[in-house]
Amino acid sequence: MSEPAPPPPLRLTVDTAALAANWRALDALSGAARAGAAVKADCYGLGVETCVPALRDAGCETFFVAHWSEVAAVARHVPASRIAVLHGPVNDADCAYARATGALPVINSREQAARWTASGGGACHLMVDTGINRLGIAPEEAGAPEIAALEIDILMSHLASADEDSAMNGSQLAAFRAAAAIIPHHRASLANSAGIALGSDYAFDLTRPGLALYGGVPRGELAGAIRPVAQVEAAILQCRNLESGESVGYNATFTARHAMRVGTVSIGYADGFLRQRGPGNALRYGEARLPILGKVSMDMVVVDLAAAPDLVAGSWLTVPWDINDAAQQSALSPYELLTVIGGRLRRC
Ligand SMILES: *Cc1c(COP(=O)(O)O)cnc(C)c1O
Repeated sequence: MSEPAPPPPLRLTVDTAALAANWRALDALSGAARAGAAVKADCYGLGVETCVPALRDAGCETFFVAHWSEVAAVARHVPASRIAVLHGPVNDADCAYARATGALPVINSREQAARWTASGGGACHLMVDTGINRLGIAPEEAGAPEIAALEIDILMSHLASADEDSAMNGSQLAAFRAAAAIIPHHRASLANSAGIALGSDYAFDLTRPGLALYGGVPRGELAGAIRPVAQVEAAILQCRNLESGESVGYNATFTARHAMRVGTVSIGYADGFLRQRGPGNALRYGEARLPILGKVSMDMVVVDLAAAPDLVAGSWLTVPWDINDAAQQSALSPYELLTVIGGRLRRC
């Protein structure tokens, strides 16, 4: 089929100027270090196709993904040698793919180090675990022969609690410094978005912001520097008039107590507008607040049109997606609010 699909009744607008400005702000806040960009999970739900070219044009040169399956989409826009794959080579097929594409693995264990060397070696990155206990070699393994055999570009570690004033930040910093003194490398990298706000001690040669690029503010210090990036809108598919006593949606959890005009809107949990965002929340039309009635469906949600009675099918509504608004974070972190954004929104 070559017939292009008609425009969808929902849209995600990514403000690429704000994204670029956020990268430049984080790069400046990184001091003498350069900022890279975490572009895993399809740029935290906002879309590689839109975001990676904007980050590249802003000056970003190092890109982090989690999976090997994420390499190809990013490599359409930047040289593969600038893509670091955080999960590392867990089998020989991963090593072969790294060699075929030119993307570099982040080695996370002595076993991965041995596998990479056996497959031919060459430039790679190394993760040292300084306390988050997910991936990475232990600091005591720094002198192991498998590690000594590596040709390490970026030596990195990851902060567990950079969004808090935790004593763990200082202890991870000290452990990372100690590892960096022993393990030969070209560039050292510790800070994520929140880590950048901890100051120049944490910046080393390269920072790895993710969330803050996409408009998230994990620490107050970043509030003035970071602009919102994502906006979500959805169209009314149909307007209806309810009689008193009629109900709305699955399990009839809302019943009209008087005659009312409602609109069925084209966004649902398949788009990342999760069911917990239904009760007590509202969509907006300009300043008008349109409360959500009943349960969020897979592809639809119903709103009360009392505050904007003249709306018709095809009218566009704003779907609040302010990831820094505490009310919206009642059950989901800003990371989750972004990464649950559904594929139907990214494709439009
Ligand atoms: C996701 C990730 C980042 C980015 O973290 P943010 O908190 O989104 O800035 C940096 N480094 C590693 C290893 C990551 O997994």
